[in-house]
Amino acid sequence: MTTVESAAKSDASVSGAEICLDGVSKVYSGQKAPAVDNISLTVPAGEIVMFVGPSGCGKTTTLKMINRLIEPSSGTISIGGEDIRAKKVDELRRTIGYVIQGGSLFPHMSVSKNISIVPKLLGWDSSRIKERVDELLDLVGLDPAKYRGRYPRELSGGQQQRVGVARGLAADPPVILMDEPFGAVDPITRQRLQDELLSIQRELRKTIVCVTHDIDEAIKLGDRVLILQEGAHVAQYDTPEVVLSSPANEFAQDFVGAGSSLKRLSLARVSDLELQSTTTAVVGEDTAEVKKRAEANKDRSVIVLDQRKRPVGWPWVRQLKGTTIVDPGQDLVNLDSRATLNDALDTMLVSGHGGAVVTGDRDAYLGVIDFRTVTDFIEEMQREAEAETQSAPSADSDEDLASRISIAPTDEELEKASES
Ligand code: ADP
Ligand code: MG
Repeated sequence: MTTVESAAKSDASVSGAEICLDGVSKVYSGQKAPAVDNISLTVPAGEIVMFVGPSGCGKTTTLKMINRLIEPSSGTISIGGEDIRAKKVDELRRTIGYVIQGGSLFPHMSVSKNISIVPKLLGWDSSRIKERVDELLDLVGLDPAKYRGRYPRELSGGQQQRVGVARGLAADPPVILMDEPFGAVDPITRQRLQDELLSIQRELRKTIVCVTHDIDEAIKLGDRVLILQEGAHVAQYDTPEVVLSSPANEFAQDFVGAGSSLKRLSLARVSDLELQSTTTAVVGEDTAEVKKRAEANKDRSVIVLDQRKRPVGWPWVRQLKGTTIVDPGQDLVNLDSRATLNDALDTMLVSGHGGAVVTGDRDAYLGVIDFRTVTDFIEEMQREAEAETQSAPSADSDEDLASRISIAPTDEELEKASES
């Protein structure tokens, strides 16, 4: 068992409910072969289970039977021990968050209206709804004052997806279903959204079933990964570690694919590394004081935090002007502590500092990591993996890794580069 699992099981803060599928099948009318053929499965309370498999294997059909968007042809589904047919469909759906690709927001409704749909149906009073909307926007990393009144067309794809997640969480349902939620956004935004989901889950401990066709995403997000083959036949249902190290059959092996030693990087998290501290400054602080502190710490750069401890910039010391520290207005790419080492490498390459700022819950500053720490850790991991399997990692993954590591510049080079 992974630590995540054991923690989820023993922790009273779990707010999710167990989902059980027992011999569930779905035959669409006019079709001979079942789309879902006799699947039995338990999704433990408080865990993220990732359904992964090729297109058409029955992932969406299985998911939609859980909130009765599709009725099974046979079999039983229960949530928290209760047969889902015991409730009226509408009532059931209000206890299940549903997040799909693009957020599927209503274009004529503001962000706040979109998020309040279910709480309104549940008859919450307007002050409670208002409070909840702001709380959720904050949770998904959108400034409530700035975004609550906007319309979907005034948001980027990633922001729409965040609002979609907020809407799914609105009435605090024990179960959230997600169908390829991050499929429509660019890779960097996808990484951010994945990290945010993990960060949200750390706080909320819902039961989340998430469909993806991306094995990397499944490995990164899942406490467990369910690999499905056609007809929703279970090829393997296990932790990411086991799925990677011992695929249950040929299908699972093929699906996990080559380069699994590189994929192992997705098992290690930034939180596994030792974070370094560096000089920080809060917006509004006296600049001279900050410079003194940086000098004493022998730091060439300073991380600027806002009043809520969120990093907003990472200027070089010589760039600090004026009597007080101001928000440098940089578009800082932070790294959530739940991000994988794979993500960490990517983020560090674009940071301009040979390192990355690590944040925790609600994007609060935790520390920094540098390239060396990550590459040392990876090399150590690879040595261990090789010793375990007695075989060298595949040439592909080695090259990919080596090329990324070799381009790591020094802090001096980076500072020089920032001058031109
Ligand atoms: P996935 O989400 O894994 O791509 P789906 O659950 O959407 O797969 O589809 C599983 C199978 O059921 C596919 O063969 C698909 O063509 C079929 N199918 C899905 N929805 C319907 C429908 N409404 N009517 C008939 N067949 C469907
Ligand atoms: Mg689908």
